[in-house]
Formats: sequence, C-alpha cells, structure tokens
Amino acid sequence: MSIYPLKLEPVFKDYLWGNGLLKELYNKKTPYEVTAESWEVSCHPNGMSTIANGEYKGKTLADVVNELDADLLGRPLASFDKERFPLLVKFIDAYDRLSIQVHPKDDYAKVNENGELGKTEMWYIIDAKPDATLVFGVKPGTKKENFATALRSGAPEDMLNFVPVKKGDMFFVPAGLLHAIGAGILIAEIQQNSDTTYRVYDYNRRGADGQLRPLHIDKALDVIDFDANCEVTKDDNITCEYFNTTKHNLDGTKDFDKGFTMVICTEGNGKIKYADGELDFIAGDSMVVPAALGNFSIEGKAQLLTTTI
Ligand code: ZN
Repeated sequence: MSIYPLKLEPVFKDYLWGNGLLKELYNKKTPYEVTAESWEVSCHPNGMSTIANGEYKGKTLADVVNELDADLLGRPLASFDKERFPLLVKFIDAYDRLSIQVHPKDDYAKVNENGELGKTEMWYIIDAKPDATLVFGVKPGTKKENFATALRSGAPEDMLNFVPVKKGDMFFVPAGLLHAIGAGILIAEIQQNSDTTYRVYDYNRRGADGQLRPLHIDKALDVIDFDANCEVTKDDNITCEYFNTTKHNLDGTKDFDKGFTMVICTEGNGKIKYADGELDFIAGDSMVVPAALGNFSIEGKAQLLTTTI
C-alpha cells in the first residue's frame, strides 16, 4: 500500500447544453462531440473517477477509498454520512443556460428522498463571456405564494435574481438557495456527494426526445429559502460544514498542512512536492492528496482551488 498524491481521470456527461471547451481548453479526452460536464473527483455510482498515476492507476476512486480509508480521508469512511465519500467536484461547460433548480437540506432529503443526502454546493468561475449572468436566488421581497403562481403559469423569470459573473468569482450555494448557471460560463463546482435536484423551470425547452423535462415544483417550494443571502463571496475562501475551499493565485511555492486535500488546477501548471517525491500537473488536472502523506507544498504558476473537509 503506497501513499502518494492521486491524479484523477474524469467521467464525462454529454448533456445538451454543453459544448467543446473542456476539450479545447484542457485537452480532455472526452468521447463526446458536445461535453457538458467532467466529473473530476467523483465517487458516485452515476460516474466514477479512476486513478491516472502510480500504483493505483486504473483503479476506481471507490476502490482506493476502501483500501486507504482513513489514510486517505483523515478519518474512517464509516464515520461519514451514509458511509459515503463526502464530496463531488465537476467542471461544467455551460454553453447554454441550465435549468432553474434548488437542492434540499439533509433533513428534508432524508425524509422525502429515501434517506438521501441534501446538497450544498459552491461555484468557482473559471471563465465567462463578458455579458454572462447566473441565477442566484429570487429577487428581494419575493413571496412564496407569488412565486408559486408564477411557476405554475410557466413564467417566473421576472422574479429571479440574475447576477453578472466574471472569471475568479466564487459563489456559495447552500441547500435551499434557488440557482442556475447561465450561458457562456465555465465553472468548477464543489458539492456534497448527492444527486438530489428539484427543477422548477427549464425555460420551456424541449429535450432531444421532444419532451419537456420533468419539474418538481411542490418539493422545490417546500425547500426554497426566500430570505437566502444572495451575495457574491468577497474573500478567497468558502467554508461551511461540508467543505472548506480556497482559491490561490500561485506564483512560487506554498506550504500546506497535512490532511485530505483536493487540488484543482484551472490555469497554469506546477507540481505537488512531498517527502518522497513530486507530481506534475497542468491546467484542468484534479488531484487528491491523502491525509497520511504528511505536509506538502505546491510549486508553480497556477490558479488553484484547494478543498479540505
Ligand atoms: Zn445545483
């Protein structure tokens, strides 16, 4: 059993609203013409990352989590909710806009979704077109009754809080906050490892099969927080009970304390240096540093996101 930083091979999703940025920008080896998402650090049955380097090359992240357990995560997998790898990291190429949605909190999902977890997430804007916006909550003063009426008549757009975005912005999207990624945005998304989504509006679009996608208006109205805080995060860090993510504009060397750490490189390149060696990375690479590796440092000229739990 060896302990070293794991570089991950993602899984790709070809949803209709994607395009070619992940291939163009990051040289991702996607099999699809149109790629919407790469699940970069994923231990989810709907898409499982595999290891790209070293002794564990070719194994799934789930295999390695089971083998290394607390040496990877810093505490036993059995101590996590549902004994599940806690987080999921995706790159999302939103060429077209995504549906308006909300996620439940853990307690609501547990009761209403067969014991599932809720979903709190965050976004880092890797890049955005000049006029790009996203939906971040409802407009201040919007009441549940009025919003329900607007949803049922298929015209809620006037009540949505559209905010402009630019490269480098970070948004905290707690469970209960209505949200949607707008068109022309490339995002890194870090979230609880759950797939519980309530869609409230899809711009009345039809899918490849000619059908409207199902909406979940009643459950969404149960969980939307109409008083949620809708502000762009101003500092370089987002901390909540599920994750602690920091953006770094690295130019040189930075030391990190030991502990399970996910490292996402969105621009530039560098290397993770540790007691027994080093691992090179380039833009678009996602890595996991095992807790048992000890202190490490990152050297290079790069935009990075580091996430601990
Ligand atoms: Zn979401």
